[in-house]
Amino acid sequence: MSIIEITGVVKRYGSVDVLKHIDLSIASQEIVFLIGPSGSGKSTLLRCINALETVSEGDIVVDGLSVRGGKAEVRKIRLEAGMVFQQFNLFPHLTALENVMFGPLRVRGVSWRDAAEIAEALLIKVGLKERMRAYPSELSGGQQQRTAIARSLAVKPRLMLFDEPTSALDPELRFEVLQVMRQLAEEGMTMVIVTHEIRFARDVGSRLLFLDGGRIMHDGKPDQLLSDPPSERLRTFLQHVA
Ligand code: ADP
Ligand code: MG
Repeated sequence: MSIIEITGVVKRYGSVDVLKHIDLSIASQEIVFLIGPSGSGKSTLLRCINALETVSEGDIVVDGLSVRGGKAEVRKIRLEAGMVFQQFNLFPHLTALENVMFGPLRVRGVSWRDAAEIAEALLIKVGLKERMRAYPSELSGGQQQRTAIARSLAVKPRLMLFDEPTSALDPELRFEVLQVMRQLAEEGMTMVIVTHEIRFARDVGSRLLFLDGGRIMHDGKPDQLLSDPPSERLRTFLQHVA
């Protein structure tokens, strides 16, 4: 039973087809890595999955909810599909704890006490027990991104979408974010991850998609595609990111 079902999706800006007929089915607990050249449509695909963008043609069904559905349905999709961006987008005037409490308080309608409890548990989980009362400006990039992950998890999503979560980080801070993602994967979270961290994709991924020019050019096991790239296109791409 698939948790994400994409059928015949086209995304067009003006007269340019950025996604050109995507069919893709992702099962619960898959760890799908999405790689491809800049401009190939990776971010657009993620944004269509959680209905931050509308699709021009076709449909995406997330956990039984259609992105073409009404407002309430789209709102539910955004809760079911947590999203983590390259830029952490934390509220600067709220502490780490308050940032994580925000979702449960606003959208899940829980009490202040319960929200604090959920948020504390998640910040401990991402290794920020000692930094809960800090403001984003007092946190390192890696700590901010881990707070952002905790914030997404706080509304209990069924799946997580990551758009280059470590690209804005110095190399020595990437590891701590990747560790949190690895742990989530081990706990059985369904994840779709856009990244240039090829080694991480090989280690953690159950599936690898290579997007090129708005099309899924390859779809297979990370190990197979990476050790023996089936096209010159993928081979060249890997030489550039490695
Ligand atoms: P990637 O994440 O793989 O680098 P994107 O999904 O961001 O690629 O972009 C794919 C293509 O769509 C690019 O050519 C980009 O310029 C174009 N694009 C993205 N967003 C918009 C937008 N809001 N309006 C017009 N064109 C866009
Ligand atoms: Mg992108």
